Amino acid sequence: MPDGRSPLEAEIRRLIAAAGPMPFADYMRLCLTHPQYGYYVTRDPFGTRGDFVTSPEISQMFGELIGLWMAAVWKQMGAPENVRVVELGPGRGTMMSDALRAARTVKGFYDAIVVHLVEISPTLQQAQQKRLQESGVPMLWHASFDEVPAGPVIVVANEFVDALPVHQAIKAADGWHERVVVVGPGDTLSYGLARDALPFFDGTLPRALRQASDGSIFEWRTDRFALALGRRVRADGAALIIDYGHTRCALGDTVQAVSGHSFADPLRKPGEADLTAHVDFETLALGAECIGARSYGPVTQREFLLQLGIRERGAVLKSKAPRDKAGEIDGGLSRLIRTDNRGMGELFKVLGLADPKIGPLPGFAAPSQAAKQ
Ligand code: SAH
Repeated sequence: MPDGRSPLEAEIRRLIAAAGPMPFADYMRLCLTHPQYGYYVTRDPFGTRGDFVTSPEISQMFGELIGLWMAAVWKQMGAPENVRVVELGPGRGTMMSDALRAARTVKGFYDAIVVHLVEISPTLQQAQQKRLQESGVPMLWHASFDEVPAGPVIVVANEFVDALPVHQAIKAADGWHERVVVVGPGDTLSYGLARDALPFFDGTLPRALRQASDGSIFEWRTDRFALALGRRVRADGAALIIDYGHTRCALGDTVQAVSGHSFADPLRKPGEADLTAHVDFETLALGAECIGARSYGPVTQREFLLQLGIRERGAVLKSKAPRDKAGEIDGGLSRLIRTDNRGMGELFKVLGLADPKIGPLPGFAAPSQAAKQ
């Protein structure tokens, strides 16, 4: 490849030459999930030697609490005899493995579940198969959420929605223009603006954002995912979406490329860095609600995990673990709930969605005193 271009860059240049400027969302989709060169398709990006570390990889307590949450929700649903436990984007399968181990203790739940793993990457599907083969529950893989069969459902997703492609628009004097990727003056991939303004775009924005100044950036994802999720849980079920993002729909460019634990330029070496954007939880919740689902939160990851009893869980683990493991358990707990920039407690939010019949979901009560400390 000329100048060390990635194979995906050659493909993207070919597509731009054939079809013209590429909306950023299409670029992001290709970078992450191109069937041959996509970031997730070609590697296992997790862990200290990978590009980033996620909550389930930090501490087993994270997945265990999610498992107990699922079992509690199943009881609230009336303990159906068959329930689909769905994980979207399971990565290495760590969260599901920890969740199933914890949920095993809840009588009846284990016998009721079939696990459905929605994973686009064959490499990660294999890693998940290996990790979960001992679990003893029936397990099926799908490339898309739409393939999960109808029926009672409990959906969980950690750091999945941030990998769904975002569109960006930039405000100019004559309206909002979609951000596109072009081949720029120095023969490198560069940002540009679509020639024509997006018709009636202002009218689709929350009122407070309509007076945005020129140069402002607005990001959005298609409603497809929120509607599909809303429809499924509305019929009979619940969902838990955990991700970093904002509680209110807002302006701003949150696209990030990360490679080897450092920030990278999103337009350099496409397919070789992770690309994400914050989740707009307000819009996600609204999409699911307009189908009839009820939403809970979003609350911070700290509030959610404290309400589910992560401190108590940590104490139990420590009492059973060899003494030299105690520091590791404390360290993991602290990283999951601390609110400064070394922790994931504040930036990460948790949104619950459910069939209104099943009542308030665990973990979403008003913040406890403990959560505020
Ligand atoms: N939940 C895991 C992994 C998060 S990374 C954890 O917390 O560790 C995102 C995951 O979503 C990866 O498994 C990735 O392959 C998968 N993924 C990304 N886009 C996807 C898509 N469009 N459809 C299905 N899976 C996708």
